[in-house]
Amino acid sequence: MYVEQRTGSGSRTLPLYPRRSRRRRRRRSVPLLAVGLIIGVCLGWTLRGAALPAQSARLPEPGAVSPKALPDCPDWIEQDLLTVNEYSRPGTPLDAVTGVVIHYVGNPGTTARQNHSYFQNLAATHETYASSHFLIGLEGEIIQNIPLDEVAYCSSERNHDTISIECCHPDTDGAFTQETYNSLVKLVRWLMEYYQLDASQVIRHYDVTGKECPLYYVRHPGEWEAFLDSLNT
Ligand SMILES: [Zn+2]
Repeated sequence: MYVEQRTGSGSRTLPLYPRRSRRRRRRRSVPLLAVGLIIGVCLGWTLRGAALPAQSARLPEPGAVSPKALPDCPDWIEQDLLTVNEYSRPGTPLDAVTGVVIHYVGNPGTTARQNHSYFQNLAATHETYASSHFLIGLEGEIIQNIPLDEVAYCSSERNHDTISIECCHPDTDGAFTQETYNSLVKLVRWLMEYYQLDASQVIRHYDVTGKECPLYYVRHPGEWEAFLDSLNT
């Protein structure tokens, strides 16, 4: 800002508050420097982003669909989720789903409901760490225990990237009833379609750890092969 100052010989123009003006100029230069830095950083990020691989390169591999986008639960599955607890439903997110693991409950004649209660009661008994995403009962009924985006304690080192299914069985040989078998085929086909898995990604607990589970389908490998064939027909 300037002001005209009259003198005896005429007038001259002097800056008003000259010292403050200089200070203002100095202050103005600080924000300008900050803006310049921000623009520089933004430009740097933009250029860096352009050098990154295409977005599609970060999408999951086939068969590793993110478990976050969950399918609607069909009406032929009874969803009865365990309460979150350290012993059977830790609430740990699944990394991905790259397979389905089949088990037998190993307790002849027990129902899906009884096994569900056993898993739930582990929260109080602290007896062991165990659960499965699904239980299939002797009548073919299906109970879901764990959400599809969480880990179940069923398949050892494959807990983090598989869905687990435990099947009930009437006898010690571990053979499934026809109703259990039919529901297993239906459930596994549904999971295969959703996660874009093929039959080679459907495995037994035995294939992970060598444990005789599901017993009948470890001791009768031909029956297991027939089951895998039925998934494709
Ligand atoms: Zn098992």
